[in-house]
Formats: sequence, C-alpha cells, structure tokens
Amino acid sequence: MKICVIGTGYVGLVTGTCFAETGNDVTCVDTDKSKIDRLQKGEVPFYEPGLGELVTRNVGEGRLRFSTAVDSGISEAVISFICVGTPSSSDGSADLKAVEAVAEQVGKAAPKGAVLVLKSTVPVGTAEECTKILNSMKRADIHVVSNPEFLREGTAVQDCLIPDRIVIGTLDMAVSALLRELYSPFVRTGHPVFAMDHKSAELTKYAANALLALRISFMNEISMICEKEGADIANVREAIGADHRIGPQYLFPSVGFGGSCFPKDVRALTAHAREIDVEPRLLQATLDVNEAQKQAFVGRVLRHFGGEASAKGKRVAIWGLAFKAKTDDIRESPALTVIDGLLAAGMKLHVFDPVANANAKVVYGDRLTYASSTYGALEGAAALCVLTEWNQFRHPDFGKIKSTLASPVIFDGRNLYDPQALKKLGFTYYSIGRPPASN
Ligand code: NAD
Repeated sequence: MKICVIGTGYVGLVTGTCFAETGNDVTCVDTDKSKIDRLQKGEVPFYEPGLGELVTRNVGEGRLRFSTAVDSGISEAVISFICVGTPSSSDGSADLKAVEAVAEQVGKAAPKGAVLVLKSTVPVGTAEECTKILNSMKRADIHVVSNPEFLREGTAVQDCLIPDRIVIGTLDMAVSALLRELYSPFVRTGHPVFAMDHKSAELTKYAANALLALRISFMNEISMICEKEGADIANVREAIGADHRIGPQYLFPSVGFGGSCFPKDVRALTAHAREIDVEPRLLQATLDVNEAQKQAFVGRVLRHFGGEASAKGKRVAIWGLAFKAKTDDIRESPALTVIDGLLAAGMKLHVFDPVANANAKVVYGDRLTYASSTYGALEGAAALCVLTEWNQFRHPDFGKIKSTLASPVIFDGRNLYDPQALKKLGFTYYSIGRPPASN
C-alpha cells in the first residue's frame, strides 16, 4: 500500500517505519527541514531503542523515504496518516492548528477516494471537524478515520509491531476493512482490532491515558499518607497489585508523571469535559496530585538543607532528565520541575542523563553543568537526586557514590534502592512513600 505519514516525530517515524517493515511503500514527510535532512543522511533524530536498525533496513530496501515535500507525499498515497503534534493551548485544551492545516493539505493534494487517518491524539469531534474541512473543499470523497496510537516511548517499535489492540474509528465498512488489512501483520497473534465510531475512538485514547495517569497519582497520594504514617508504600503496592481486579501495572510511586502525553492529554480531556458541562473532578485531581508530588520532592531537598536560605549555593547532582527511561524526551519531565525549584532556591546543579543531556541543554543552556559520566556528576555535590529510572542507575557502585559525593545523601524519586541497605552503607536516604533512612 502507498502510505504518506505526515509528522515524522516519535509516533510518525515509528509508525511509518513499521508499515514499511511489513512491505508497504512509505513516505514520511515533515516541515522540519533539519529533521528530514538528518533522516536523509541515515540519522534517527531522537533516541528510540531498535528504531535506527529498522529505518536503515527499510530505506536500504527502498520502501521508506523522507521528504519535506508534504503535498507531493500526500498526492501519491492511498492513505495519509496525520501524526503531527497536538500540544496544550494556554487553557489546557489541545491545540489543533497543525492537524487542521494538514487536513487542508490532504484536501488539496490527495488522490480521489483517499483515506485520511488521524493518529495524533485529538479531542472528541476532531474527525468530524476534519470531515467538515474536506466537505467545504468539495472533497467529500476523502474518508476520515480516527486511529489513535498507544505506543510508549522507549518500547515504541515493539508496541507498534505487536500492539495490545488497534482502534479503528469509522463506520464505513470498506475503509475499516482497508485499515484492518494494513494492520493485519501486527495482530496475527490475536490481539484485538476494535472498530467503532469516530467519537468513541477519540475518547478511547484520552480515557486510556487518563486512567494510567490516575493510577500513578492515586499511588502517589497513598505514598504521601505512607510518609506521614511511617508505612511503606512498597508493601502496600505489592499487596494491592496482587489483587487480580487491580493488577500490578502503573502502581509505582514516583516523583510524578511527565512526558509529552499524560499531562497534556489529561489537561485536554479536562478542558474538553468543562466545555461540555461535565465537571472533571477525578481528572483535575490527577493533575493536582501530580503537581504536588513534584513540588514535594523539591520541598524534601530544601528541608534537608535547612530551608531555602541555607540551601542557596549548595551543589546537588541529578541523575536522569528524561521523563522516563529509554527515551531522550524531556517534555514535561518531572526532572524539569525539580530542576526549576532547586535553581530558584539558588542551588548549583550537576546533571547527567545517558541520552537526554543535549535536550536539557536546549532548555537550560549554561544554567546547569552537564556531566559526561554517571559518577562525574557527583563530584563535590552535597547530595544526589535520582529522577529517571534508567537501568544503569539501579545497581550503582555505592562505595564510589559515597566517596565522590561531598556528603552521602540520596533523594530517590523512583524508589530504586533499599532503604535499609543504604542506611547500612552510611547514606542518608530519602525515597517516596517510605520512611527516610539514616544513622
Ligand atoms: P513530535 O513532536 O515528536 O512530532 C510531531 C512532528 O510533526 C514534528 O516533527 C513536527 O515538525 C511535525 N509537524 C508539525 N506540523 C506539521 C505540519 N503542518 N506538516 C508536517 N509536519 C508537521 O510528536 P509525537 O510525540 O510524535 O506526537 C504526535 C502525536 O501523537 C501527538 O498528538 C501525541 O499526543 C500523539 N502520541 C504521542 C505518543 C508518544 O509517545 N510520543 C504516543 C501516542 C500518541
């Protein structure tokens, strides 16, 4: 099948490459010339495990190409996938400018009977809006499908090739069959394909992200209660996760959720609910708890140093900038909130992330010192904050950490370590929802 993917970011590049991997002819287009230049030189412009190899193979075998010529990509495709960003507007709602602009371009350039697939995360009513745009351009022959994406950065290739489910939002049987055919290699092991109306498909994506974010905020709120009461969130988590009605996923307490999806999508659903006179109490609470959790981490660090005035000028090391492991994406990473809070208190920060230092540099410039190695960040620091759950931070050389830090203090935003073990090693150790450990 001839496919055009519009927006060659985390979703577009992975999706386009996986379609090429199953034999389709794919053109990925983007208005960002520097991104396309890099892709044309064989570079993947962001970190995503396993993606580079797949891109190289499919480009080499002639099934995948990159271009800034959006119209010409669309004009040759049977299906155009919209994968552009849908960032938050100032009121929290999804900014649909890029989606609507691309829908118009599809209206201008697509061949007769083409299919426009909305893969970007978009609020209920967007497919209808795009249909109106196309109708106003006398392009009622173009079918609009809502086909939300559920991949996770860090495991995006695997998630795309073996998705838990596919959602196809259209009531047109022929178009639905075309999409089923396209996805059939990915669901051979029996994972379901759900066909439904546009609106249900659009809402499915937001509901999924909101529920996952809600579970995290719920556990973070329980972790606050644990801290006050001297209970241990790890015990609580394991015992409730063993209940098959609850399950163990997304119950890990942390410094808060971040990334380019959960915060923006919960905000967008909150804004949308208010627009239609539904008071989104749980959604708002999910956001509020998350913000409080990030601020609580900053408060814990400042309190340890005796408050803002005495923390001023002290140096702290930070391990982890990405919003989660296995990605270089720092969009709305909780690390940024912690960094902002500590910088505002006048602290000096030495940071290290295995792949996200460069992205942080774009945001913070020389306000941070960027270490090129894990232990390099620790030199002369009065404490270490662990903010991303990278595997390489899970079993570090604690002897080396202790001898390199100016004082043996760890603030763990991901509960990677055993409090009693760290206490024995002579650390003062703070984590989430567990009593602090020190001698
Ligand atoms: P991204 O920022 O990585 O990529 C978007 C790309 O679209 C950019 O390269 C940008 O240059 C390009 N673009 C913007 N306007 C354009 C236009 N008019 N024409 C052509 N290209 C244009 O974004 P992303 O993380 O890939 O997310 C894309 C969408 O998918 C969002 O709606 C997001 O919510 C959703 N989504 C993201 C993830 C994820 O993990 N990142 C997962 C599921 C769904």
